Amino acid sequence: MAFVLNEKLRGMKAYEPIEGSYRIRLDANESFILPDDELEDAISEAVNTLAFNRYPDSAAAKLCSLAAEFYGVKAENVTAGNGSDELIGLILSAFLQKGDKVISFSHDFSMYSFYAHLVEADLIEIEKNADFTVDFDKVSKIANEEKARIIIFSNPCNPTSLGVDSKTIEKLIKSVNALVVLDEAYMDFFGDSLSSKIDDFDNLIVLRTMSKAMGMAGIRMGFALANKMLSDIIKTVKSPYNVNSVSQIIACEVFSRPEFIKQSINKIISSRDDLTAQFKALEEKHPEGLSLIGCAANFIFAKASRASDLYEFLKSRGVVIRLFGSYVRITAGKNFENAELIGLVDEFYGQGEDK
Ligand SMILES: *Cc1c(COP(=O)(O)O)cnc(C)c1O
Repeated sequence: MAFVLNEKLRGMKAYEPIEGSYRIRLDANESFILPDDELEDAISEAVNTLAFNRYPDSAAAKLCSLAAEFYGVKAENVTAGNGSDELIGLILSAFLQKGDKVISFSHDFSMYSFYAHLVEADLIEIEKNADFTVDFDKVSKIANEEKARIIIFSNPCNPTSLGVDSKTIEKLIKSVNALVVLDEAYMDFFGDSLSSKIDDFDNLIVLRTMSKAMGMAGIRMGFALANKMLSDIIKTVKSPYNVNSVSQIIACEVFSRPEFIKQSINKIISSRDDLTAQFKALEEKHPEGLSLIGCAANFIFAKASRASDLYEFLKSRGVVIRLFGSYVRITAGKNFENAELIGLVDEFYGQGEDK
């Protein structure tokens, strides 16, 4: 006898983050801010007194109530996940059956198609407009014609860094029978969340994460916010101890310091605005080289001529960004990191010029 892989697993590739050590990492949309001394001490103390022999709180009750307060919802409306990534997988596998139609946009976060593929759903990727905006009337029409079960997308969008106003999304939610999974991983930088409206809809799940604005990518902590009926289902299908106790207590310490979170968000927004302004100045200097597309999140997205050469050039100088074909995505970093990036991009496009 011989073991044969099933159809859906053939040809799948493991996710490969950019490897290697670089001086300046502007590729993964992480925060450049570490916990301050006070938070760091509180975390150490909490970890030191943890009962490691015990299973974690399955409901992550304390954490969910702190998160609920932060996001302006009730604790019963919050489910914690091992990163929002886990929740994306969980929601797609629970709310879809094999062959069900799920709508996403091209391009958006790559994990949507990954998890849709694993549940053998039928993924419809709706093309965006040439300027990377989304035609939501078209989305609604296709969703209804195709009887889609789920529409999933990010707002602001990764990778385009374009944000859509909540009114437009509300209109979409009302116009379809599909469950709308709204991934607000970058909403802390855009400020037009639908989190507080979850009870107004029977078909909305909002995803939030501590990985970006709160500088906590390492502890893997994300949240699904939804009405009680949907939240109860997510809680039913999650594995019992999906969020480990170390991450739970660290996240509780962070949420107990809303001032720290707000300050971090402000610093990141100000770095993003600086990076954007410097990038726009570069764009004026090298109009054939660069064209900024979006800056709504903690990163910018731009068209760049000879993008892969630019990417390799930056890498050779110890600076890593994300390359998407002829586009680049650059995370806002510390001031000196942004400055160095801008200087190198300027150098790259200046090389052919008369000096
Ligand atoms: C980074 C990111 C996430 C976050 O995932 P975590 O698992 O919470 O770290 C979710 N959605 C999008 C679109 C992202 O870019």
